[in-house]
Amino acid sequence: MKIATLKQKKQFFVSGVLNWGKNNYRYFPWRQVKDPFLILLAEMLLSKTPAWRVEPVYDKIAKTYGSAELLANASQAALATEIEPLGLHNKRAEQLIEIAKSLLEIYNGKVPHKARQLAELSGVGPYIAHAVPCFAYEEPAAVVDSNVARVLTRFFGLDCVGRPALSKTVWEFAATLVAETVSARQYNYALLDFAAQVCASRPKCRTCPIRNVCQFLAAEGGPKQFDRAVQQSNTIETTTRR
Ligand code: SF4
Repeated sequence: MKIATLKQKKQFFVSGVLNWGKNNYRYFPWRQVKDPFLILLAEMLLSKTPAWRVEPVYDKIAKTYGSAELLANASQAALATEIEPLGLHNKRAEQLIEIAKSLLEIYNGKVPHKARQLAELSGVGPYIAHAVPCFAYEEPAAVVDSNVARVLTRFFGLDCVGRPALSKTVWEFAATLVAETVSARQYNYALLDFAAQVCASRPKCRTCPIRNVCQFLAAEGGPKQFDRAVQQSNTIETTTRR
């Protein structure tokens, strides 16, 4: 495929990430469900917490508090104890119960479809407000966390002010990529996984399937120079750890 325009570059990126995702999707229990409440619950637990820590906690929480009604009537102390391994457990328990109560009061216990409605709930930031409609309802929403923002700013050379994950420029750009795919859910899962496993903070450019068109790699002076730079930073880190 000849890449002559930004639109073609976007299409190349989206199809490259989706193709990579086909063989590399990560299995998580919350990805196997379509229940919007369980997806919201998982995303709240995942906030500022790595997935491997959430996985053992999620199953039990989903079984015990798997609806807005059950969660709204939970004992805050008991819930806090169950989610203690995730940290910030008292604050999280309070927030989760508050969200469940709001869902009962405003939406009859259902999870709303629109990001702006979700964003009005206590503790729900832009990422969760967009992720839940996308993963639960297949809404064509962009999903941008700090990892995804890193990939987009690298690959497309986006300039943004402040934190990339909160940048309007990055969110708007990410939305134009979602418009290039038929399944926002599949694409966003693939992108999250790609950001975690390939274009990580120490990127694996040598094996990256979309390296030929990557602006970051080109700006670093090409694959060889970039690999050398990454190798050097790895050596420094290994030495520091000892
Ligand atoms: S070539 Fe490197 S920097 Fe560019 S998208 Fe791939 S992993 Fe990220």
